[in-house]
Amino acid sequence: MSTAFYVVNFSAFAFTRRGLTCGPHMGLKLFNTLSRSIQEFAPLNSPKVSMYCCGPTVYDFAHIGNWRTFVFADLVRRTLEFSGYEVKHVMNITDVEDKIIKRIRETKTSLREFTGKFEAAFFDDLKTLNCLPPHQTPRATEHMPEIIALIEKLLQRGVAYKAADGSVYFSIEKYRGCGCNYGQLLKLNFDEMRAGERVASDEYDKESVADFALWKARAPEDGDVFWKSDSLGEGRPGWHIECSAMSMKALGETFDLHLGGEDLKFPHHEDEIAQSEGATGKPFVKHWMHGAHLLVEGKKMSKSLGNFFTLRDLLAKGFTGREIRYLLLTAHYRETFNFTMEGLHGAKSALARIDECVAKLRELGAPSAGSASSHQRAELALGAPLLQNFSAALDDDLNISAAWAVVFDWVRDMNRRLAENSLSAAEAAAALTGWDKIDSVLGIGTKSGAEVPAEILALAEARTAAKKAKDFKRADAIREELKAKGWAIEDTPKGPKLKKV
Ligand SMILES: [Zn+2]
Repeated sequence: MSTAFYVVNFSAFAFTRRGLTCGPHMGLKLFNTLSRSIQEFAPLNSPKVSMYCCGPTVYDFAHIGNWRTFVFADLVRRTLEFSGYEVKHVMNITDVEDKIIKRIRETKTSLREFTGKFEAAFFDDLKTLNCLPPHQTPRATEHMPEIIALIEKLLQRGVAYKAADGSVYFSIEKYRGCGCNYGQLLKLNFDEMRAGERVASDEYDKESVADFALWKARAPEDGDVFWKSDSLGEGRPGWHIECSAMSMKALGETFDLHLGGEDLKFPHHEDEIAQSEGATGKPFVKHWMHGAHLLVEGKKMSKSLGNFFTLRDLLAKGFTGREIRYLLLTAHYRETFNFTMEGLHGAKSALARIDECVAKLRELGAPSAGSASSHQRAELALGAPLLQNFSAALDDDLNISAAWAVVFDWVRDMNRRLAENSLSAAEAAAALTGWDKIDSVLGIGTKSGAEVPAEILALAEARTAAKKAKDFKRADAIREELKAKGWAIEDTPKGPKLKKV
C-alpha cells in the first residue's frame, strides 16, 4: 500500500466518521444523573438514539431560563447527530396542569384557546433560537387514553390507590415495598416522611416527599377541564404521569436518554421513573441529563427584581436569536450560568469575528475553487485537526468552552493566513467545509444575505439598476440613503456587497 493511498483514505475517514457510513463515533462521554458520574454514551440500539426532553408548560411565554434548557437539549441532539447517531427526539407539550388551569380561570378562556397561543409562540421562539424541531411534540390532552391506561396499570399492580375524593395517588410505600428504588436521581431522607401523607399539587419540594396525584378528581375550580374515564371517574391527570405516558408511547418502555432542567429532577423526573418502572417493571431510562440553572445579572430571575426576561423581551431590546443562542451556549450545561446584558454585547462581537473570517474564506474559497484532489489535501491539512479537536472537546461531557476555544483558535489562525496571503482557494474551501460541520453542532450559522432586511435589499437592487442605466446621480443618492439606514454598500468583482455599519 502506498503512502499516498493511505493518506487519502485517512482523510476520507476523518470526514465520514461522523457520518452514518462508518457508524457512530465511539468515545462520547456524558454525565449521567442516575450514576452521578461521567459515562460512555452507549444507546440500546446503536446507531439509533431515543431521546425525550420535557417540553414547555404552555401557560406563558418561555423565559430565558427555560430557553437555556431547550438550547442545551438542542446541543445534545446535534452532538449525537454529529457523532453519527440517528436521533429520535421527542418533546412533549404540557397543555394541562395546575398552573394552566389557574390561568384559564383568571382569563376566562378555553383550555385550547389559551394554550394554543403559547404553544405557537413557543415554536416561533424555538425557531428564532435555531433549535432543530423535535421529531414528535405530543400534547398531553391528546394522550388521555394512554394516561388513563397507565394509571389503571399502577392500580392493578397495587402501587396506586384511590383516595376518598376519587383522586388516584401513587403509593411510595407500596412501591418501595416491592423492592423498587424511589430516589434514584436525588438522595431522599425517608425517615422524615410521615406515613400516609399525600400531595395533590403538581409541584412540591423534596422536604415534602409524599404520595403524589396521578389522577385528580374533578373539582369545581377546574371548570370544564376534565375527562371521563369508566374506571377513574371524571378528572384530569397529574403533570408527572403525562410525561411517563407520552415518552413510553413514543419511545418504548425503556429508552436511551431523558433530558430536562435540573429543577425537574425532583419531583417530576423522580415521579416519572416511579410511575414508569412501577407499571412496567423495567428500567425506564438509561441515561439522564440535567441542565443547570441560569441567573440573570447575578441573581435568580424574578419579576420584582426586573431581571426576568422572555426571549421576546430580549429581541425587543435589539438582540438577535443568534446572539442569545451563542451566549447560552458559552457555558457548560452543568454549571450555573450568569446571563448578563454585557454578555449579550460580548456575543455580538464574538459572532462578528467569526462572520468576518467566514466571509473572507467564502470570498477566497468559492466551491468551484481548486481541483478535487487539492481540496482533499487541504481538508487533511486544515479540516481534520479542527474537527478532531472540536469533537474531542464535545466527547468530554460537552466541554463547550474547549470547543469554542478550538473555534476561536481556528479563526485566529485563518485570519493570520488570510492576512499573509498564504491560504490557497482550495484551503479556504476546505476550511469552510470544516466550519460547516462544526456549525452543524453550534447552530449559530453565519450572517448571510437573508439577514439583510427586505427594504435594504430592494434599495441595493435599485442602485444596481440605476448604475446599469448609467444614472449615477440616482445610484449615489441610494448609497446615501442606505448609509442613513446604517448600511454600507461596496462594489466587488462579484457584485455589490452590503455591510451593516
Ligand atoms: Zn416531563
